[in-house]
Amino acid sequence: MERKDITEILHHLGEDSLPLNAVSPPIFQTSIFAFESFAAFKAALADEANNYLYSRGNNPTVNLVETKLAALEHAEQAKLLSSGVSAISAAVMAFVKTGDHIVSVRDSYSWAKYLMSTYLERFGVEVTYVDGSDPEEFERAARPNTKVFYLESPTTFTFKLQNLAEVAKIARARGIKTIIDNTWCTPVYQNPIDLGIDIVAHSATKYLGGHSDVVGGVIAGSDDDVKRIFETEFLLHGTVPDPFAAWLIMRGMRTLHVRMPVHFESAKKIAAFLESHPLVEDVLYPFLPSYPQYDLARAQMRGGAGLFSFRLRTRDIGKVRTFTDTLRLFKRAVSWGGYESLVDPAAVGRFPNGEIPDDRVSLIRLHIGLETTDALIADLSSALDAIR
Ligand SMILES: *Cc1c(COP(=O)(O)O)cnc(C)c1O
Repeated sequence: MERKDITEILHHLGEDSLPLNAVSPPIFQTSIFAFESFAAFKAALADEANNYLYSRGNNPTVNLVETKLAALEHAEQAKLLSSGVSAISAAVMAFVKTGDHIVSVRDSYSWAKYLMSTYLERFGVEVTYVDGSDPEEFERAARPNTKVFYLESPTTFTFKLQNLAEVAKIARARGIKTIIDNTWCTPVYQNPIDLGIDIVAHSATKYLGGHSDVVGGVIAGSDDDVKRIFETEFLLHGTVPDPFAAWLIMRGMRTLHVRMPVHFESAKKIAAFLESHPLVEDVLYPFLPSYPQYDLARAQMRGGAGLFSFRLRTRDIGKVRTFTDTLRLFKRAVSWGGYESLVDPAAVGRFPNGEIPDDRVSLIRLHIGLETTDALIADLSSALDAIR
């Protein structure tokens, strides 16, 4: 496949003939499209994937974003969905039925885990969890009825990587679909399809949108795989993005290639600062040279995101609370991928019978936004001083 320059994709692809030479693409805020004749109407209904008929299927504003996303992920096709979770569910559910088996990374995004551990169980789909850092685990866990290997690399609270090329090879040899959540890297820094992965999913709510003002999701893959998802879960569950949401995601994507290197450089600097601080136990950032999977990170990703975790050298929840509450620039919030810095202590989450596991008490996730690193480091320093 011919590779296009990233700015050509983000700023030009699919925008050659906009109405009235508009520079910003118009929003087709319409639910339906009309036909000139009985014959045209009938032809469109017979092939909804390739026609404008009803915006639960296709809409030109949404399709424009999809054209760019497919090019970014080196995929034949992409679909934009109403959320990252709907993208993951649609992709996984399109390839399993009762009696099938999935091998999934254990530390996947919380709702992906709910899909595997609770929802699919209702339909008699079994799941085996693996840590994922050794490709052999997938080989050992695979059964004759395994249909999907589900990956997230790195995982987005514990930052564990899978060797994508190796896992893809094991899957291909057995006819198993590989699906990856590539939200952390974005297509700017990792293209799983080039490494043999079949289907890439994203939460567009994070870096693709980039401004914490829109929720969306993406799947990208071969024409056949995307068509299968479109004709089953996508149309059935109706998890279609609104044209304005699609337009906001595209507006955010105009600067994706400019934002990502800033998140990356700032995160490296702040991770190094925390690693050298006496009150910090460890820092989970794949691009720290001390990180156990640093070599794999450099081999399969061109760079990293602004999201990482660290542990305070304490198990005192009161200190975790004081640290969190002293931060001024880091907002206390879920999600990530916007222009702003965020803090999300693992301990604010829900745990079975309220018991926070020991290794989670002082685990804190930071999103490093686009603020100056000096200001962010000063903010973190003050919060650390507050628990000295
Ligand atoms: C946020 C997130 C999702 C879910 O995306 P939504 O857009 O919130 O539905 C999936 N995977 C990862 C890694 C995420 O961070």
